Amino acid sequence: MYTGYQPTSCVTPAKATVFNTIRLNENLTERYPQDVVEYIFLHERGHAARSRINLVWFLLGTTLTFLAAGVSVGFVVVFGLFAATNPIPQVIGLLVLSLCLSTVFSWLFCRVKFKEELRAERYALNQLGEDEFRRRSETYEEIVDRSRYDRLKRRLFYPSVDTVILEREDG
Ligand SMILES: [Zn+2]
Repeated sequence: MYTGYQPTSCVTPAKATVFNTIRLNENLTERYPQDVVEYIFLHERGHAARSRINLVWFLLGTTLTFLAAGVSVGFVVVFGLFAATNPIPQVIGLLVLSLCLSTVFSWLFCRVKFKEELRAERYALNQLGEDEFRRRSETYEEIVDRSRYDRLKRRLFYPSVDTVILEREDG
């Protein structure tokens, strides 16, 4: 356990904007040690260093898959409500279809987010080298205190340190 810092409440420490600029939380340097702040900054710079094309693909990809997943879930609700007025096999077929579609689109949404986070982490890895990257991201994980929702997001959208190092070569 890292002892120098108290666990901090989960306010996003930093964020890259769609304009490829970086917003850092103002008390970031009070909450995290300098080397961890640098790691966080490099991660965000990894996002901000993306090309315009990558940014467009990311925005389109997340928006479209999110909408498509939402529409598919809407289908489930609508056909559930009208189940009484339709033949049962047809209702079940449509239900299965919309469940499959919403699963596929949710999965694609996660993949698009995951790819983007992987790219940002890879950037930090290339700047820091493997040992420092591992040490700093592990220190960060020890200090940061996430809400349940943020832990879920972390699990869905973020690669592990080992994945980042394994996939460092391609791309
Ligand atoms: Zn990120």
